[in-house]
Amino acid sequence: MYLDLGGQRISISCKLTNMEILENVPLAPLTTFKIGGQARYMVEARKDDDIREAVQWAKDKGVRFFVLAGGSNVLIPDEGLNPLAIRLNGNLWGVSGNVIDAWAGTNLLELIRAFGAQGKGGWEKLAGIPGSVGGAVRGNAGAFGSEIKDVVTSVRALHVRNGEVKEFTNAECDFSYRHSFFKDNPQWIITRVNATLSLINSEQSKRLAEETIAEREKRHLQNVKAAGSFFMNPVAPSEVIAMFEKEKGVKSREGRVPAGWLIEKSGMKGATVGEAIASLQHPNYIVNQGNATAEDVLSLSEVVEQKVQKDFGVRLEREAAIL
Ligand SMILES: Cc1cc2nc3c(=O)[nH]c(=O)nc-3n(C[C@H](O)[C@H](O)[C@H](O)COP(=O)(O)OP(=O)(O)OC[C@H]3O[C@@H](n4cnc5c(N)ncnc54)[C@H](O)[C@@H]3O)c2cc1C
Repeated sequence: MYLDLGGQRISISCKLTNMEILENVPLAPLTTFKIGGQARYMVEARKDDDIREAVQWAKDKGVRFFVLAGGSNVLIPDEGLNPLAIRLNGNLWGVSGNVIDAWAGTNLLELIRAFGAQGKGGWEKLAGIPGSVGGAVRGNAGAFGSEIKDVVTSVRALHVRNGEVKEFTNAECDFSYRHSFFKDNPQWIITRVNATLSLINSEQSKRLAEETIAEREKRHLQNVKAAGSFFMNPVAPSEVIAMFEKEKGVKSREGRVPAGWLIEKSGMKGATVGEAIASLQHPNYIVNQGNATAEDVLSLSEVVEQKVQKDFGVRLEREAAIL
């Protein structure tokens, strides 16, 4: 049996209750980097039970598994991946008063727009961050001074080993800069996100979201073959912070300095390996200029890490998940 997935003929290995296990699925088109090989197996999950069933299938088959959602913060290896890719897909949500309840695979921008049109918002500064609401919670995605943690009330997650379902309060999510409990505990898969929105005029919400997207485009933060910021903004020694504050005339937040600034100061802006480049517009974006390989991206990231370490004594930590 075959399935047509975005013009590609994918063979179906087996059928579960509601889903099909697909074989040899090219993963590059499912990521914003457009890099990487095939998934030996892949399944598209649209609800908790789909995840449960997929996990059980992987256990029975003796293969490992990983979660893929919007694919906007991952680097897939060139040789592909043998584990089962559980791809969270579909936009599904409900609402009660001002509290929304969204399936983790729901596209974040779709949610912002859909609820904005209903006069519920307050999170328009997150508009344009690619990917799913579950992915956003895992990495506490943020932009322009807003973070997803500011609106999250609770998160439902499924434990992959024992099938336990737990509702995590905002505090239990342990959010901080680009971090949540789920980043350190991949055995929990986020399945639903509850967020409390504020009342807003629908036209105003639309305008704010569109302005945010326009600003992102102006800053070349959109529509590039990348995974967003490749490195997190690191905590830096006081002399580096002082240098940054003097040069930029802004205060460092949480003792961190922008990774992009460090990369530029180390002369690494525009550095390339193969077809991967430390972007000229936004040096913390490693961009696939055409046919970059995962190897190109990783080699470039290592060169950048070493130069920043040598020049500033600061260790850059990757934000993008290397699967
Ligand atoms: C052009 C561009 C601009 C970007 N700008 C920003 C920005 O301004 N701010 C920002 O914070 N980020 C930004 N990013 C990064 C990215 O969009 C976010 O990190 C996003 O939240 C990732 O969500 P995703 O659904 O694409 O996750 P994926 O890339 O699919 O997955 C990322 C990681 O999260 C895990 N994961 C995904 N969903 C779940 C789940 N439900 N449960 C458990 N684990 C899960 C995956 O296993 C993987 O390890 C940008 C990326 C791009 C390409």
